[in-house]
Order: sequence, then C-alpha cells, then structure tokens
Amino acid sequence: MNELNKYKTKQRVAILDFIESNKDREVTANDILVYLNKNDLKASQTTIYRYLDNLVKEGIIKKNYSEEKSSSCYQYVGKRCKEHYHLKCNNCGEIIHLDSEIFSSIEKKIIDRYGFKIDNIKTILYGTCNKCNMNNKSK
Ligand SMILES: [Zn+2]
Ligand SMILES: [Zn+2]
Repeated sequence: MNELNKYKTKQRVAILDFIESNKDREVTANDILVYLNKNDLKASQTTIYRYLDNLVKEGIIKKNYSEEKSSSCYQYVGKRCKEHYHLKCNNCGEIIHLDSEIFSSIEKKIIDRYGFKIDNIKTILYGTCNKCNMNNKSK
C-alpha cells in the first residue's frame, strides 16, 4: 500500500468530493457533517476536523475564517490554485479563480518597490460579484 492509499477511507474521499464539487464557494465543517450523514457515512466532528487538518497540511484545501458564518471555512485548492488569486463575493460567497496573468504585473511591481512577496494562497480579494452587482442595479 502506498502513502496515498493509506488515507483513502470512504469518509476522506467523500469529504474531498464534497469540497471539490463546491469549489466555487467555501464550506464549513458542519456542511460536511450534514453531507456525510445524508450519505450514511458516519463521522464525528472531531474526525472531520482531523481529515480537514490533514488536507490543509497537504495543500489540497485551504482554510479561511468566515466572518459572516463566524467559523472556519474550507475551500478546494486545485493544482492551479497555487498560481492564482481568488476573489470572494461578500454577498453570495462565490469564489472566482483569477487568471494568473491578471495579477502578475502587479505582483512584480510590489516586489520591485517593496521587496514584498504576496502569499496568493492566503490572499483573498473581497468585493461584489457580477451577479450580485446586476441584482443590486435592478432593485
Ligand atoms: Zn483557484
Ligand atoms: Zn455575489
């Protein structure tokens, strides 16, 4: 058995599936608990947190703190997510994966001027998405 298979329990696969299929938003441990229960996969909150911690350490998902839910939220990090920034809508919570070239010139300017390298995995830009802006206009 290789390293990867060792951790491949049903719960872990289900948690990962759930987070991946919700990759345009953040999910909480509670969302996962509800999902697992629905699929008859029993797991305690503690187990879920342990799986989530491992996935965060492996860089497969990332952990953010959500003010509106006042709890930790988890977001899927695809291979390419390490190379770009994310926008998050304050209103509906949608996450947009930015084209990496949009930011690369700004990133370079910041490094040139301040010698500061932004951690794009930790950085989220907050605002209002197109959908929510349209809805606001039509009100
Ligand atoms: Zn991404
Ligand atoms: Zn929105």
